[in-house]
Amino acid sequence: MADYEVPKLNEYPIIPKLQPDTMKHSSPFIAKEQFQTPLGFPGELPDNWKDVAIDKMGELLGKYRSLQVFLDICVHCGACTDKCHYFLGTTDPKNMPVARQELLRKVYRRYFTFAGKYFPKLVGAVDLTEEVLDDWYSYFHQCSQCRRCSVFCPYGIDTAEISMAAREILDCVGKGQKYCNEIIGKVYVVGNNLGLPEPALRDTLEGLEEEIEEDTGVKVRLPLDEKGADILLVTPSADFFAEPHVDGLIGYAKVFHEAGVSWTCSSKASEAANFGMFIGSYENMRKVSMRIREAALELGVKRIVFGECGHAWRVAYSFLNTLAGPFDFLDQNYPIPQHICEFTHNLIKDNKLRLNKEENDHMKLTFHDSCNVARGAGMGQVEGGQFTIPREVIKACCNHFYDMPQDTIHDATFCCGGGGGLLTDDLMELRVKGAQPRMEALKAVTEQHEVTNIAAICAICKSQFSKTLPYYGFTMDQIVSVHQLVSNAIVLKGSEQEAELDGETE
Ligand code: SF4
Ligand code: SF4
Repeated sequence: MADYEVPKLNEYPIIPKLQPDTMKHSSPFIAKEQFQTPLGFPGELPDNWKDVAIDKMGELLGKYRSLQVFLDICVHCGACTDKCHYFLGTTDPKNMPVARQELLRKVYRRYFTFAGKYFPKLVGAVDLTEEVLDDWYSYFHQCSQCRRCSVFCPYGIDTAEISMAAREILDCVGKGQKYCNEIIGKVYVVGNNLGLPEPALRDTLEGLEEEIEEDTGVKVRLPLDEKGADILLVTPSADFFAEPHVDGLIGYAKVFHEAGVSWTCSSKASEAANFGMFIGSYENMRKVSMRIREAALELGVKRIVFGECGHAWRVAYSFLNTLAGPFDFLDQNYPIPQHICEFTHNLIKDNKLRLNKEENDHMKLTFHDSCNVARGAGMGQVEGGQFTIPREVIKACCNHFYDMPQDTIHDATFCCGGGGGLLTDDLMELRVKGAQPRMEALKAVTEQHEVTNIAAICAICKSQFSKTLPYYGFTMDQIVSVHQLVSNAIVLKGSEQEAELDGETE
């Protein structure tokens, strides 16, 4: 299946033997000029690229004080070395978080510290050369910006921020990544990552309405661009067509229907994802976010609810108000924005949803905490809500739920292996190898509790697992959406299921 060795799954995590440069060849395709220039980046390496790169680094150091602190304070204690899934899966020592940081740090020292300017060898400072730039391109695209390492670092050094800064510098010298930059371009032109135009979107939503009616006998609406609706749903475009994402979208629609609220999708903001974060570009992140503000204003909605998308939720929860606020035109009685899991959870708590857990009895579930939700956001008004709320929603819909080992869940969760703008086929080897720690934890819970399925609330995780599960002896359909479980269990008022259940109890 693969022309590289797929890592073994062990009974417990083993720190691998180092194999230097084993992933040096792994680099994503470089963006062509046509994808670089609309984003404000050059199409190729300019003659004065070194000055441009150093100036950009200086600008970022001034703008993000955390970056300078992170580059200054590492004591090389080694606590982070075995915490990265890419290191564990690839065995390449440059995938140890501290080594990844050093790629940027040694150039920082050379140009921005007294010792590095005058005694470079003494402090391990190096000149910026094309070879160094190539190493940056390769290894900063082997970091999914998942932040797991920062949880274990006694100083809280966040390699994700270093990796974002490196990618931003690379973009500024014409070495942008094709996958991310092409997608950002599509969002500007069409409104979503997939380049799905409005008529196709409308057709899809109408098709789903018919499917739900056939299945339940109830007309559940999936409206598009409906002015005056109360809620704008912003969801990853994968939800509009691919399995298991689309089953999640059906779940949201059923929940809104049962809640009796009016809602709509938007063809302008038909994408929750914000790849501006992955390339470290504040300007692009802001521009992508502004579509949501504009759509909310044009449609006159009172609330914004986000669907199941990990990094989109991080951008929404942590930055949306700064990037595209103030949202003073929305109803201030609700969280701005709100996660669909919190929305559903509130209804469950208030006994406003009828759920038949038996509909999910053919599955034994576990839950994968997506990195950007677990370590980059919160949920609900409670501490740790991002861990408890999705689990409580699952448990309300299923009889069989088991968590994976404690050191692989909550804020210690392992990345799926495809986050941070790496979900592209040109990085398949990295994605398969990087999935190993998560697969190891899945294997453990499968052996212990006969778990059959893994649920997630992130479009990237779902797509990544669909592709990588088979490499480890699982099947691609073992990954499910959390709202797919809700969709299976929910008993719609007036549905055939309701009649059947009530018939049974009479
Ligand atoms: S942020 Fe995640 S992917 Fe990047 S170095 Fe740290 S653990 Fe590895
Ligand atoms: S854990 Fe923190 S201080 Fe220690 S080596 Fe890693 S980044 Fe440096």
